Amino acid sequence: MINKLLTLLLITIGISPLLSQDYDEDYFRSPVDHVMRLSGSFAELRTNHFHMGIDIKSTNGRPGDPILAAADGYVSRINVDASGYGNALYIDHPNGYTTVYAHLSAFEKNLAEHINTKQHESKTFQQQLYPDSLFYVTKGDIIGYMGNTGKSFGPHLHFEIRETDSETPVNPFLFGLKPSDNRPPVFQAIKFYKSDSTGNFTSILEKKIKLKSKGLYTVGDEIIIVPTDQIAISVQVYDQMDGAYNKNGVYLMKLLVNDQVQHGYKLDRVSYEEGHFINSFIDYGEKQMSKRQFSNCFTHPVDQLSIYEHKPDRSGMIKLQSDKATNVKIVLQDFHGNESEINLKLKSTDTVEIINQEEGNYNLQFGENNIIRLPRSEIIFDEASFLNNKLIHITEGSGIVDGHNLPDFHIGKATTPIFKPYELYIKGLSIPDSLKTHFCLVKCGEKSTTALKGVWQDSIYFVEMKSLGSYQCSLDMTPPKIEVINLKRKMTQGMTIKFKITDELEPASKKDRLRYVGKIDGKWVLFKYDLKNELIYHTLDDKHPPGEHILHLSVNDNRGNKSTFSYQFTQF
Ligand SMILES: [Zn+2]
Repeated sequence: MINKLLTLLLITIGISPLLSQDYDEDYFRSPVDHVMRLSGSFAELRTNHFHMGIDIKSTNGRPGDPILAAADGYVSRINVDASGYGNALYIDHPNGYTTVYAHLSAFEKNLAEHINTKQHESKTFQQQLYPDSLFYVTKGDIIGYMGNTGKSFGPHLHFEIRETDSETPVNPFLFGLKPSDNRPPVFQAIKFYKSDSTGNFTSILEKKIKLKSKGLYTVGDEIIIVPTDQIAISVQVYDQMDGAYNKNGVYLMKLLVNDQVQHGYKLDRVSYEEGHFINSFIDYGEKQMSKRQFSNCFTHPVDQLSIYEHKPDRSGMIKLQSDKATNVKIVLQDFHGNESEINLKLKSTDTVEIINQEEGNYNLQFGENNIIRLPRSEIIFDEASFLNNKLIHITEGSGIVDGHNLPDFHIGKATTPIFKPYELYIKGLSIPDSLKTHFCLVKCGEKSTTALKGVWQDSIYFVEMKSLGSYQCSLDMTPPKIEVINLKRKMTQGMTIKFKITDELEPASKKDRLRYVGKIDGKWVLFKYDLKNELIYHTLDDKHPPGEHILHLSVNDNRGNKSTFSYQFTQF
């Protein structure tokens, strides 16, 4: 009996160690042979998603470090992509986890040959292969080389550990794959919000945060007085690890009100399905306006992120009084337990100000499909397009484009996040059939002009919309540009032919990217595509005998516009 009780007691007080035993710290080895330094941490904040792995830096800032299998297993998937993960490998292990290695400069020789064969068979650079049981690996085998392919800005390895069945990424630190870290997380700034009756959070105050002593931060003011009796808080924070200057995400946050934990998060695992809730985890409007990322110390009621430690009753909303200060403490912790905190005393003013409500001409109801009928269009918002009722401003105008009277739209503000796409139907368009493929919806952003391609249903044009903002109908008649970067009349085997291919409109999705075909003497040749640099390149091999050859390249933009380029060269 005593033994039983003791066991029970041990289980009760030992809950965390028991849970962490789920992750075997000896199972995986580091996927690199050099000391692990990180330029990105698990679930840190990225645009529209959480970072699903860790970014391991190269030894010398150049591609080429060998990448090793983290454990025994087999290659379950190979990806070759002009953007995204670039060259990527997936290895399934018998323990129920899959490791992912992305942005590789090159694959191990046997894998590379297999991929090259598949590229020539399908006459496409882009590949998604599931070689099943073709390639077995042993822990520590070289499987490829560190690179900068895909959407990567500097050589590094993006490394993930996923549960094989659910494909849910898990923090690799839990398996002991982590650099040393003796530096506590850093507070930079804090924002205060008032929530209005529709559940919108309005920013009312921002303060810089200063370091007082190691791990202890302050805003300077003894007491902060705000014109509202219920506030929410967000913080701009980062963490640094040993041996790297990079500012990474913070593993754990806790909000305490009068010493009671009210809210918090911990970044152990995040599924791809919940990833879009990042825009409710951060101050989305602030990010759109200033690029700064503030993590919310509160949640919207319908936010389904699993990283929150205290939900749903503890939303992080803080009640204030005018006669008595409320003590608020925010604690940050990295994975090694290094801690930082800030303590605040907050009071409300005697008379609480009414904060301006959002302005708009349509009141969209959360939990219902909202249909907006305009003279030449219909907009249907999904019941989960927003996380609460939303008052937004929508107008339809028109203008003459290439001799056609076409509508344009202002749909809310670009600083308001969307959680499910909405539908736009543009009706009664009298566009001749010959021009229909050139038709698109254009979004003018600060940096780029994006083309959204829809689907024709007779005279109706349907577009799936993923953000708010201003949109214009347009007819794209401009062909893509082909620019020679490296090409000579006389070339030898091993030389690389390189072009820059660009278009005046950015594609809104992967399927709308520029398409190209390169041929030598009428035969398809492999041009690799590096989308971030807008480059395509072919390395001359031994498939063509010495002598005169004709290179032919065609590039099309998926909106009916095509450019071609021909060139005669001698290979010797
Ligand atoms: Zn990464």
